[in-house]
Amino acid sequence: MEDDISSYIDEIISALGDDLELSREDIEKEFRRFLEYGVPPDQAKKSIVKKFGKDKLNRKLLKDIVPNERNLNLICKIITKNVKEVNIRGENRVIYYGLIADESGILPFTSWKSSFPAEKGDVVEIRNAYSREWQGNVQINIGERTGIKKLEEDKLPDISQEPRKCKIIDIYNTFGPIEIKAKILSISEKEIEIDRVKRKVFSGILADETGKAQFTAWHDFDLKEEDVIRVSGCYAKFWKGIPQIVFDERATLEKLTEDLEVGSPVLPLHRLVDMRGGIDVTTEGTVIEIKDRSGYIERCPECNRLMRNGECRIHGKVKGVADLRLKMVVDDGSAGIGVIANREITEKLIGKTLEECKKIVENEGEEKLLEEIKETLLTKKLRLRGNALGDEFGTTLIAKDAEIIEEDIKKGAEELLQLLEGER
Ligand SMILES: [Zn+2]
Repeated sequence: MEDDISSYIDEIISALGDDLELSREDIEKEFRRFLEYGVPPDQAKKSIVKKFGKDKLNRKLLKDIVPNERNLNLICKIITKNVKEVNIRGENRVIYYGLIADESGILPFTSWKSSFPAEKGDVVEIRNAYSREWQGNVQINIGERTGIKKLEEDKLPDISQEPRKCKIIDIYNTFGPIEIKAKILSISEKEIEIDRVKRKVFSGILADETGKAQFTAWHDFDLKEEDVIRVSGCYAKFWKGIPQIVFDERATLEKLTEDLEVGSPVLPLHRLVDMRGGIDVTTEGTVIEIKDRSGYIERCPECNRLMRNGECRIHGKVKGVADLRLKMVVDDGSAGIGVIANREITEKLIGKTLEECKKIVENEGEEKLLEEIKETLLTKKLRLRGNALGDEFGTTLIAKDAEIIEEDIKKGAEELLQLLEGER
């Protein structure tokens, strides 16, 4: 028996390898404690390796990773692995990319290593990776100095492949297959060609009481506007924070007879910033900044580009088309976002028509108009609705509707401004 214990300890020490921080005596003490509680020696060995191997790694869960983190240590499963050739500064290189998942989430990765020593389905330890932002998502980057080591399958807690029931607002924080109940708000059909095979694809917008998402169906489920469906085994993906739900014939889709209330509940700004973006979201915040180039602008009649000094960058000197817009920052104390408003919404918010603004600009100059806009809007609280897009600079809402909801909050807003100033 003592010989057996000694050989188990040897195995534990060799399994921990570089991770070994404990003395042989400590490991033995721990091992014997397991045995005292009747744990079979094999199981005891596994538990000890798992416990001390992982602690030492200083592991980070995928769900906690934000862009531009360094020295990331991960334990995850390779969900997909693809290869492509890219040309970087005249040099052809092979890169590997795909998806990795742990018990907390799923993220895309790109590997710049000359070889990638793991296959789809492998559980691996990744040391010294870093994160970047890619198309609105966090991406894990694996460089030459990143270590990848294959682990035993049971080093990673179970990754469930059962579809998770969730609301649209929750799909931002989940991974793997999901099940949602939603109403089809719009749908259109198109034919596309993939590898010379024509396929019908159906796409549109669906919604539940918590929000909206785009969807793409790679199979004809005979869906119509207003249908309420339960679809299980679909996936969520994101572009600049805009959610898209994707499903094909492997998904289970059921049409329900019940109706479903759809909505766009007011999201606190920190929630929206966490989500990065969304379709037809509603939020509220105080105007803390009106950006330059807000107000009266002229656009090229040919290409709609913003003109500067009577000239279009592409079409030269043209007679511009008058327009109004607002670019501003709103903040609710928890987070801030950029907001872009078109002519119609600008007119409504500043209480002046395009013609009136044009007159002010002609008689008193652009600065004067901007001053008046600031006077009207700074420190006002707005309710905003529209599509929001996130990138590495933050989240921007393209307003579809906006209204001033509190006129008399100047004091509170000034305090907020001071607070924000103080932080800079
Ligand atoms: Zn132009």
